[in-house]
Amino acid sequence: MSKTQRVGERLPEDVGTDDCMDSYTYTYSPDLLKDQVAFITGGGSGIGFRIAEVFMRHGCDTVIASRNLDKLKEAANKLSTATGRRCLPLHIDVRNPETITAAVEETLKELGHINILINNAAGNFLCPASALSFNAFKTVMEIDTMGTFNASKVIYEKWFKDHGGNIVNISATLGYRGQGLQVHAGSAKAANDAMTRHLAVEWGPSGVRVNTLAPGPISGTEGYRRLGGPQGEARGAFSSIPLQRAGNKTEMAHGVLFLASRVSSYMTGAALVMDGGAWLTSANDVAAMLGHWSTEARRDK
Ligand code: NAP
Repeated sequence: MSKTQRVGERLPEDVGTDDCMDSYTYTYSPDLLKDQVAFITGGGSGIGFRIAEVFMRHGCDTVIASRNLDKLKEAANKLSTATGRRCLPLHIDVRNPETITAAVEETLKELGHINILINNAAGNFLCPASALSFNAFKTVMEIDTMGTFNASKVIYEKWFKDHGGNIVNISATLGYRGQGLQVHAGSAKAANDAMTRHLAVEWGPSGVRVNTLAPGPISGTEGYRRLGGPQGEARGAFSSIPLQRAGNKTEMAHGVLFLASRVSSYMTGAALVMDGGAWLTSANDVAAMLGHWSTEARRDK
């Protein structure tokens, strides 16, 4: 039980590493995604890994796609062993549309169709704008924003245009209030939130739904570690969050399952915020974030 979990509060199972859960309690029908195929960028770790696991536990086959093929193969092996569904590990760099095209062609050859795209790949770190290089800002925009557009466009052209489909973009709440040391990721995700609405409008008539899930601080992830989550939790910063705790990866996967399945069939162009209410009250503690940033910068030297 998490330190701040209230007595009687029943959270979904999770583990803090990139491993499958020992047990899983179903909330939705186990065949909710039966025989569907989901293409998940960045599905080899963190939230993306748990989305893959939860989808597979609901009958879906998955493709997990990112740059590090060794990591993906290990993850795919764990996922298939735990769930009995197929998981194809494929190399892509979301900044490079040709790599996505090759992976999508391989997916269609191996699995026959694609029902769901999860744009989860991203890069993030704390850095004050004054110390952020032009190149660092550009790289985050390229991975988070261009990467989301690239994957969406390739899969739309190759499959969704003629068969319909479902896109879920994993966003963040950083830009809602202008979080300190996050101008790069906050700007990129804000662009993605607009992209969600634009593509929902253009592609709705082809039977394509496009929605966003915006997580808050999620434990057991690289993002959480890099952005100083454990330190924030230790100094009691989460007491300002209405639900008083970090979220877990399975909670995020359940939000994505809702958006990617028939449960949300009349929903498109929407953003589902799953952050325990954090963005409404977050302290935006720039001094603490600067402290974490300078510790990390010293460690990197
Ligand atoms: P993570 O484990 O670091 O996942 C990011 C994934 O993106 C990695 O698997 C990485 O794999 C992949 N990736 C990075 N650059 C790529 C590229 N150029 N091409 C293809 N794949 C690439 O992070 P996470 O914390 O679970 O975050 C997942 C998503 O949730 C992100 O969109 C993040 O912004 C969002 N989010 C997270 C939190 C949180 O608390 N963790 C909060 C708000 C929003 P490779 O290294 O193999 O490429």
